[in-house]
Amino acid sequence: MRTRLTGLTIWDGATLLDADALRFSDGRIDAVGASADLSEADRTIDCRGLTALPGLIDAHVHLELDPDEQHAPTAVARSEQFTRMAERARAMVHAGITTARDLGGGTWLEVELRDRIAARELAGPRLICSGQPITCSRGHCHFWGGEAANLAEARAVLERQVAKHVDLIKVMATGGRLTRGTDPQKPQFDVATLTGIVDAARSHRLPVAAHCHGTEGIRIAATAGVTTIEHCSWVGQAGWASDYRAEVAELIVEKAIWVSPTVNRGWQRMLDNPSGDVLRRVRHAYRQMLGMGIPFIASTDAGIPGVFHHHLPHALGVFAAIAELTPEQTLRAGTGDAARALGLESVTGRLAPGLAADILLVHGNPLDNLAALIEPAAVWARGQDIRLPN
Ligand SMILES: [Zn+2]
Repeated sequence: MRTRLTGLTIWDGATLLDADALRFSDGRIDAVGASADLSEADRTIDCRGLTALPGLIDAHVHLELDPDEQHAPTAVARSEQFTRMAERARAMVHAGITTARDLGGGTWLEVELRDRIAARELAGPRLICSGQPITCSRGHCHFWGGEAANLAEARAVLERQVAKHVDLIKVMATGGRLTRGTDPQKPQFDVATLTGIVDAARSHRLPVAAHCHGTEGIRIAATAGVTTIEHCSWVGQAGWASDYRAEVAELIVEKAIWVSPTVNRGWQRMLDNPSGDVLRRVRHAYRQMLGMGIPFIASTDAGIPGVFHHHLPHALGVFAAIAELTPEQTLRAGTGDAARALGLESVTGRLAPGLAADILLVHGNPLDNLAALIEPAAVWARGQDIRLPN
């Protein structure tokens, strides 16, 4: 069935187009242009007053984690866990998130969910999955089963993920807050080990996402040439964002690494205290990185305590305010640029012929106000009707 949307304002994932209609069939966009030129269709939907943009991409989620849990995850029976994860995925796509990168769990249930969504058995975003993150002995998120005491063990963990058909490798380059006994400031692997992990991933043509809070871990991950740096928190002795170092940022630029800062809706508390030290330090670090041309992608770390899977649309306004981005820069970080960072630029992230019909319609203009994203008017995921305009 050919669907034609008319009377739209169209922002294509990079820029505003001089077009007011788009048409899709068999899950793909087949034309973008003027209403008068896109005449053939089985169904026409009048979209006056609405803006079309590509479905959103959250570059860092954990479908397996329950945001209502305050501590390390408790065991849940597999069938019950799968049901919960499928509900989260459904809520995400209804909120306009049509792609998400899952950066770890212990069960590989998200891989099964990915395949069932791809087969159109279940509604949800296109998923890109890492499986179990590689971590050091008793390291960050060791309870997920990816512990490795040395490179040989890390390779074994990696091969186990490959056997489960993951799309990328996740490595915990530093400790984290979620795991008792680990220190966010401290690196978990040396340069030789992390480089060995990146090489092993590359031999399978898999990208690597590195969880990095402390500056030394960021340096090691950048040196090893990971694909994306998650969090990039510049944690030092004096706390969060207290140890920004220009020479490490230079390394990120040199290696063309993307930064995924995982700014969730809860970071609003930082904005509510505008004279706070952390906000000042985080802003300083972001300003320096953006000024050097380090590209940011939108991400929330959904699944961690209090961070809901479907709240990327709420987080984007907070991300814009903290990183001092315009609405358009923020939207690029959550669509076109995110697709490039995830290696999906030929699949999604833009409204263009040949790409997936991952389409979000919102009331008004999100380029004026990102709050327009919060109540979507319509969503299609790979051309599938998720939510239709009234
Ligand atoms: Zn995470």
